[in-house]
Amino acid sequence: MARWRAYHTPTTVAEALSLLHQHKDKARIIAGGTDLILDMEAEHAAAPEVLVDVTKISGIDRVAQEDGWIVLGAGITHTQIESSPLLRAHARCLTESCGVIGGPQVRNVATLGGNVAHALPAADGTIGLLALEAEVEVAGHSARGALHSWQPLLSIFAGPGRNRLAPDQMLHAFRFRPNAARAGNAFDRIMRPQGVALPVLGIAARVRLDATLRRVEDAVIAIGPAGPTPFRATRAEEALTTAKAFDDDAVEKAIAAAQTQASLRNSKYRASQAYRHEMIDVLLKRVLHSAVKRARMNDAPAEPNGAQPKSA
Ligand SMILES: Cc1cc2nc3c(=O)[nH]c(=O)nc-3n(C[C@H](O)[C@H](O)[C@H](O)COP(=O)(O)OP(=O)(O)OC[C@H]3O[C@@H](n4cnc5c(N)ncnc54)[C@H](O)[C@@H]3O)c2cc1C
Repeated sequence: MARWRAYHTPTTVAEALSLLHQHKDKARIIAGGTDLILDMEAEHAAAPEVLVDVTKISGIDRVAQEDGWIVLGAGITHTQIESSPLLRAHARCLTESCGVIGGPQVRNVATLGGNVAHALPAADGTIGLLALEAEVEVAGHSARGALHSWQPLLSIFAGPGRNRLAPDQMLHAFRFRPNAARAGNAFDRIMRPQGVALPVLGIAARVRLDATLRRVEDAVIAIGPAGPTPFRATRAEEALTTAKAFDDDAVEKAIAAAQTQASLRNSKYRASQAYRHEMIDVLLKRVLHSAVKRARMNDAPAEPNGAQPKSA
C-alpha cells in the first residue's frame, strides 16, 4: 500500500520548488529513495503525503567543467560518478567513495544529493566531497522564481540526519576546483564485512605538493564519522603543511593530531571508539600515501577533457 497521496515528477527546478512551497511540511524530496523509503518505513507516523521526485529535472545529473569549476548536478548517481572520466581525473576521492556505496543496484539509483541531504557524518560521498572543499548550490522558492546560492558544503549540516534546508529548498548542484598540478587525492574506508550502509570509518584526503615534490603545501582531510557532522581534521592538515617534508614523522604527527581532534563514538552496530581511534592510524596513513603518490605523478595539470597526464 502506498504511504503517500501524490507523487510528482517535475522537470524544472522552479516547478519542483513551487510544489515544495505549496505543500510545505507535508512534502518531501525523493531522488533514488534508498535512504528516504527506509526512513519512511521506520517512522511511519511522520511519512510525507506528497513526494517530489527531483530526478527528472533537466540537467540534474550533469557533470561538466565550466568557468574554472567542476560542476555536478545533485541528482547524479554514484554509478555515473564512478564512471566519469572527468571525475576520475580530478576527484579520485569522490569516485572512490561513491564507488563503494552499497552494491550496484543501490549505486545505479542513489544520488550524491541524497547522500549529502540525508546529513549523516559518515556518508561516503559526502566525505569525498568535503576533501575537495566542495560548495553546494541551494535553490529556494521565491515569488519571482528560483533563488540560487552557492555555499560551503559544511554550512548545510545541522547534526546527525539533520540538514539546514527549508522545506521549500533543494540541493541543485555541487562544485569544486579542478585538480591543480602536483595535487592528488584519495579515499578509503573500513567497513564491517557484513555491513551494508555506513562504514566504521572513512577518510578522504587531498594534498598539493611544492615544486620539489617533497613538501605538502596544502592539505584537506575529511573523516567520518568523527563528530555530529562531517569532520575536517584541520589540525592534521596543519601538521602536514608545517612539516619540512612529507615523511614518516609528518604522517605520524598528522595521525596523532587527527586522533586528538576527532570526536569518535562507540557504536553498537559498527565499532568501538577505541577501534576507530586505531583505524585513523591505518586509514590516514594509507590515504595520505596514496594522495601524495598521485600528486607526484600529476606534475602537470589534468587535461580539460578529463584525461590524466600520467597514470595514477
Ligand atoms: C543497501 C544499502 C546500502 C547503502 N550503503 C551505503 C554506503 O556504503 N555508504 C553510504 O554513504 N550510504 C549508503 N547507503 C545510503 C544511501 O544509498 C545513500 O546515502 C544515497 O546516496 C542516498 O541517495 P538517494 O538518492 O537514494 O536519496 P533519497 O533516499 O531519495 O533521499 C535521502 C534524503 O535526501 C533528501 N534529498 C534527496 N535529494 C535531495 C536534493 N536534491 N535536495 C534536497 N534534499 C534531497 C530526501 O528528501 C531525503 O531526506 C546505503 C543504502 C542502502 C539501502
